Order: sequence, then structure tokens, then C-alpha cells
Amino acid sequence: MDLGIRGKRALVCASSRGLGRGCAEALAEAGVDLILNARTEGPLTETAQTLSDRYGVTIMPVAADITTSEGRAQVLEAAGSVDILVTNAGGPPPGVWQDWQRDQFIAALDANMLTPIALMQALLPSMMDNGWGRVVNITSQSVKAPIAALGLSNTARAGLTGFVAGTARQVAGKGVTINNLLPGIHDTDRATALDGTVATQQGITPQEARARRETTIPAGRYGTAREFGAACAFLCSQNAGFIVGQNILLDGGAINATL
Ligand code: NAP
Repeated sequence: MDLGIRGKRALVCASSRGLGRGCAEALAEAGVDLILNARTEGPLTETAQTLSDRYGVTIMPVAADITTSEGRAQVLEAAGSVDILVTNAGGPPPGVWQDWQRDQFIAALDANMLTPIALMQALLPSMMDNGWGRVVNITSQSVKAPIAALGLSNTARAGLTGFVAGTARQVAGKGVTINNLLPGIHDTDRATALDGTVATQQGITPQEARARRETTIPAGRYGTAREFGAACAFLCSQNAGFIVGQNILLDGGAINATL
């Protein structure tokens, strides 16, 4: 399908690996020039090289921590104005609700709520001036159904979801859409790390931990970054201009809900 976005420019945050990379690759495949970001230079440069060789688009890698104001300033200066913004960052660590202190809540809010909000505040005005723009925030299935051990994520992402619900309706009239993609379990380093934690806690192998989690998903498997990226690219396409302020779950049916 021609997504109608060839030649547009996108900033894809936290995109050297995993879901962010999946989004970057799908946009590159659609002919979009990219600003890629991650903290670690080596894998970021490698991803940028691979995608530009594969799809012939222009890619600018910016190594910076997107959750700090200095890192964001560096990325935003390199990016200038963009047509498409995909926000993403690492997720908060797992834990137990009684243990989390103010500092841990502030870190989670900074990374998974205030960072995407700051990026939208910086980039939405030029999209509105241009009369076209797309924002996709990578959040989590925890927005729809809380994950006990990921209370920091449940909390921060709920705040972002509220901001998007209100803001998406204020910018839609200028041709700019904002939507959230809610990943269920996907086959990335993050999922492997969480399987490792469960394996240690329960005295089983990481493979057993994964097999157990797979049985909780009606699709019977983890999602892939490629599938996730394809959904992101569609939301960024010309065809998705009437999808505004939605929270779209990609979870293989894991959350048992009618709506
Ligand atoms: P991942 O495989 O661990 O990849 C994370 C990517 O983000 C890497 O490129 C990493 O590179 C970059 N990154 C992390 N922190 C960053 C920061 N502060 N600044 C810039 N780049 C940063 O993670 P993932 O599975 O793709 O998850 C992406 C997001 O989706 C996370 O917020 C996660 O909680 C959420 N999520 C994932 C799943 C899942 O099953 N995978 C499910 C629900 C929600 P560097 O380390 O070099 O910075």
C-alpha cells in the first residue's frame, strides 16, 4: 500500500532497537527521511546505516538521552521541524507498589509522560503551521489493564494518555493527528529482560517463563517489531487523517475485553 508519505521527515525516538526501530524501519520503507535517536552510539549508527542502505532514505542519528532536557534539546536542534513524531523511551523497572518512592515516580513521569509531552509541545506548532502532521506515542497495554509489577508504567502512561486525549482534539483541525499505540508483549530486548526477572523470581528458565507468558496470549506468541512498525506507519499515513486521539492495542488478544 502506498502510504502517501514519501519525502516526509520523521523523528523516531529511542529507535536503535525494539519497537522504536520497528517504527523507524516501516517509515523508511514508506520513503520517509528519519532522525533516529538512542543513548548508545554504536547500535544507533549501525541501525541508521542499515536502514539507509536498505531503503535509500536520508537518516540522521542523534545519540542522546531523550528523557533529559539536555538530550531533548540536542535531538530537537538536529531535527528542526518534522512532519512525523514517534515518541518512545525505555520503560520503568518492575517492582512492588509499597517500595516505590518519590524519586522513582519522578523518574518514571519524566521518561514516560513529561518527555513525550515536551516533544509534542516543541514540534506540534510547526506541524500546525504546515497544515499536516502525525504523532504516534508508544505507550503500553498497561493503560487499558494494569500490570501489577509495572505500577510505575501504569501511573506515568495514564498521565500521558490524559494529555493526548485533550490535546489531540485541539490540533486535529490543523491537519495534525495524535494517537497512541499500546503494545502488548512483543519480542524485544525489553520482553527478554522481563522474562529473565520472572525466571529468577520463580526458579525457572527464561524459555519456560516465555512459554508461560505465550499461553496467556490468544495469538499464542509474542508480537514482532515489524508488525508494530507497520501499524505505526499506517497511523502516520495519508489514509489515517480521520483517526484522532485513539489508543490502539496491539496485544494478540491478551486483554479480554469487548471494547
Ligand atoms: P527495547 O527493546 O529495550 O529498546 C529500547 C530502545 O530505546 C533502544 O533503542 C534503546 O537504546 C532506546 N532507549 C532506551 N532508553 C532511552 C533513552 N532514555 N533515550 C533514548 N533512547 C533510549 O524496548 P522495547 O521493547 O522496544 O520497548 C519500547 C517501549 O515500549 C518501552 O517504553 C516499553 O516499556 C514499552 N513496552 C514494550 C513492550 C514489549 O513487550 N516489548 C510491552 C509494553 C510496553 P539505548 O539503550 O542505546 O538508549
